[in-house]
Formats: sequence, C-alpha cells, structure tokens
Amino acid sequence: MIEPKFKLGDTVFMASYDRVGKSITCPDCLGSARVKVTLGTGEEILIECGGCDLAGYRGATGRIKQYDFAVRIGSYTVTGINLQGADAEYQLDNFGGSSYTIVTEKGRYRVFATKEEAQAHGEGLRLEHETEENKRLLAKTKDHHTWAWNATYHRNQIKRLETDIAYHRSKVEICKSHIKTKKEGE
Ligand SMILES: [Zn+2]
Repeated sequence: MIEPKFKLGDTVFMASYDRVGKSITCPDCLGSARVKVTLGTGEEILIECGGCDLAGYRGATGRIKQYDFAVRIGSYTVTGINLQGADAEYQLDNFGGSSYTIVTEKGRYRVFATKEEAQAHGEGLRLEHETEENKRLLAKTKDHHTWAWNATYHRNQIKRLETDIAYHRSKVEICKSHIKTKKEGE
C-alpha cells in the first residue's frame, strides 16, 4: 500500500488528446497517383498508386490521411481515491453524474499537481500516439505485393480480351468473305 499523493478535494491536472486529421502528399507517388513498376521482364509500366488508394477501389488520390494529436490540459477535482497495490487510482469530477474520469498516479494516464508536469507527460504520450497511428497508416502504403498482383491481373485481362477480339474479328472477316463470295456467285 502506498500513501496517495493527492487527497479528496485536491485540484489535479491531466492531459487529454484531440485527434486532428490532416492530409499529406502520398510518400509513394509524391502526389501523382501513379507509380512505375518494373516487371521481371525489365519492362516498366505505370500503374495506379496503391499507397493513396486505401479503399482499393476509389482510385488513387495522391494524398493520404495522417493524424496529429493536440494535447489539452484540464484541471479536475479529486472526488474518490482507491489504493491499488503500488498505485493509487483517482476518480475525478465525480459529482454524482454519470460522467467522470478514472486515472492513476503511475499508469499511462496520470494526474499531476501542476499544469507543467501534465503537459510534459502529455507531450510524450502525444508523440507515441502519433507515431503509432501514422505508422499504421503508412504501413498500408507499403503493400507492394498487392500492387504487383493488380498490375499482373490487368495485363492478363488485356491479353485475354485481345485474344478474344482477334478471334471475333477473324469471325467477322469470314462472314464478310462469305457475303463477298455469294455476291460474286450471283
Ligand atoms: Zn500515392
């Protein structure tokens, strides 16, 4: 058991985060929405950028979404204390309503005696949040396997359709020549 740092009625400070979305230039296509792929044959083709086409069907836009987390420091009143082994858990602003906050002294989300301490801790967490979130988003732009698969798929479709076109064209040619032969024979 520890001696809690704060007592009932104390004013404490805590950081919270506002997530602000922003759009940045796609790091894969640098905004052009197209990327050059070199195939095993050495042939280079331009395909739609998979990095900024996150939904996979909406089309590449050249931009991707990233998040900034703005740190906000709030002041709260300690309305409950619960000792949890080596840590103390505090209820903040529990004035009988249904909305209140639970934080601890040593956990990830902490309360502090001063705004400055809360701000310093908050900035550290903000960087962590941003790095994690944006890494996750950027990871999606690195799926080269899918891009290559897409390119191969479309090229195969083209080849197949070209073969079909050639076949149908040859049939039309035969029909034409039949008509000609008929006319000549009349
Ligand atoms: Zn892109």
